[in-house]
Amino acid sequence: MKKLNLLLLILLFSSFFLAAQQKINVVVIGAHPDDCDVRAGGTAALFAKAGHNVLFISVTNGDAGHFEKGGGALAKIRMAEAQESGKRLGVKYVVLDHHDGELMPTLDIRLQIIRLIRNWNADIVIGPRPNDYHPDHRNTAVLVQDAAYMVIVPNVAPDTPPLKKNPVFLYVQDRFQKPTPFQPDIAIDITETFNQKIYGMAAHESQFFEWLPWTMGKLDEVPKTEPERLEWLKNWRKPYINDKMKQSLTKWYGAEKTKSIKYAEAFEICEYGRRPSDEEIKKLFPMLGK
Ligand SMILES: [Zn+2]
Repeated sequence: MKKLNLLLLILLFSSFFLAAQQKINVVVIGAHPDDCDVRAGGTAALFAKAGHNVLFISVTNGDAGHFEKGGGALAKIRMAEAQESGKRLGVKYVVLDHHDGELMPTLDIRLQIIRLIRNWNADIVIGPRPNDYHPDHRNTAVLVQDAAYMVIVPNVAPDTPPLKKNPVFLYVQDRFQKPTPFQPDIAIDITETFNQKIYGMAAHESQFFEWLPWTMGKLDEVPKTEPERLEWLKNWRKPYINDKMKQSLTKWYGAEKTKSIKYAEAFEICEYGRRPSDEEIKKLFPMLGK
């Protein structure tokens, strides 16, 4: 009897262990509370739906992103919006308390990011490319690039155990052409989670229904009711699929399936993280080819 109990216990533990092993841990890093949602919200929702662990990090608190509100009061609003978006997408949302519009790639913040990546035991880390119109985006890219590799070095941030292997670091899509245009190495079909992505983005009310329309002079066009707002945001922020993305989708999903893909998100492999083979990419992104 005792032997049987022991056997059951071992079986139970090993199945827990296997289940934990199969979880993929993803970290998405953006400069502002809403950047992660915009660039990787659909992919994050797919990971979360399949039971994987996704962490969104906003490196600034967003306290400059408005025309009427600002400072601590705005930072509080944006923290609440990020938490609501995290709930809608099924991800954990961390907002670091650094001023919006003033971000510098300091050693302190680099160490903060290294610790967060380690504590999440990340397999994949996604962030912006270092060529961008916004200084916070550029500096976030530098911070993430500087954390790549350092996450495995035990003598850096020695209070937090290093990762056993360097994660795969990826860049989110952008439209900047110089010095090199974005390369969609991995393209993910988000047709299934596109509405959820929009719903997550809509949680950032101060941004999509106030600040951003204001910067474009179309604040008076913002609808009042929630269903109308979701529809409006969907039309405004529809991700487009260009030829390069189509090629990438065809590579990962096949030509036939690609015809039915309406919305996609793409990622470029950063040279400073682990360089994955196609086989490894398929393991890291189990939704590929489905
Ligand atoms: Zn931003």
